[in-house]
Amino acid sequence: MKSFNQKAKITLVGAGPGDPELLTIKGLRAIQTADVILYDSLANPALLDHNPHAHKVFVGKRKGWQKFSQDQINDLLVDFAKFPYHIVRLKGGDPMVFGRAMEEIATAQAHNIPVEVIPGISSYSGAAAYQQIPITERGISRSFWVVTGTNKDGELNKDLELAAQSSATVIVLMGMSKLTEIVDLFSQHKPADYPVSIVQNATRPDTRSLSGQLDNIVALNTIAQLGSPGLLLFGAAARNLDAVQKEIAAIKTAEI
Ligand code: SAH
Repeated sequence: MKSFNQKAKITLVGAGPGDPELLTIKGLRAIQTADVILYDSLANPALLDHNPHAHKVFVGKRKGWQKFSQDQINDLLVDFAKFPYHIVRLKGGDPMVFGRAMEEIATAQAHNIPVEVIPGISSYSGAAAYQQIPITERGISRSFWVVTGTNKDGELNKDLELAAQSSATVIVLMGMSKLTEIVDLFSQHKPADYPVSIVQNATRPDTRSLSGQLDNIVALNTIAQLGSPGLLLFGAAARNLDAVQKEIAAIKTAEI
């Protein structure tokens, strides 16, 4: 493949949470000038159509099966930079939010490859906006926490223990597989009617959401079966989910 670029460069681009229109203009320009695009499973593949000429490499996980390890991705970045290519590393949401961006930035720096990071709309922010959930609310929630449900060994993140004690809106990424444990943890610190919402496939046409409270969300989700990619929202702000209320009403009707 012909390189359009005289100099190697790596651009980490935030693809946004799913809706392909939630890409920044700067991210779009980076994609359009790329020689090669390495993309993750959470980056909408429709974004690749912005550059029919670039070589595209899927480096994400699919159904628990990982095609490339982070080390292999880092090696690919270095190998493609030798051509020299402009490499776009297209990552779901925002690259700096649970995106392992530092490892790729460090690789670029170690090889003297110029690197740039273009932010994207993170899934927590996309989910909140599309579900019309204000994650801060005057007089109700004065801060928000974005935490991972699990650590790198797949265990419950200890920060959740602190998050559950705060009055902040708490948004948990990578927590769907530990829903029961996370809800149990919050239940130790909050009342049974403390609001909880789940949003799957935020900002995508197939988005699904569910809202309830600590004492019923697990049961509701055994019926609704919301799964990956999904996030959890805890706190008063999670109450304002009109679409979700309809979904609960539908589930309750189905139960009767
Ligand atoms: N950098 C990404 C997060 C990567 S971690 C960002 O800024 O959003 C991957 C986790 O993000 C998933 O396990 C899920 O919890 C969340 N996620 C990503 N896209 C999502 C979407 N469209 N809807 C709901 N959750 C999503």
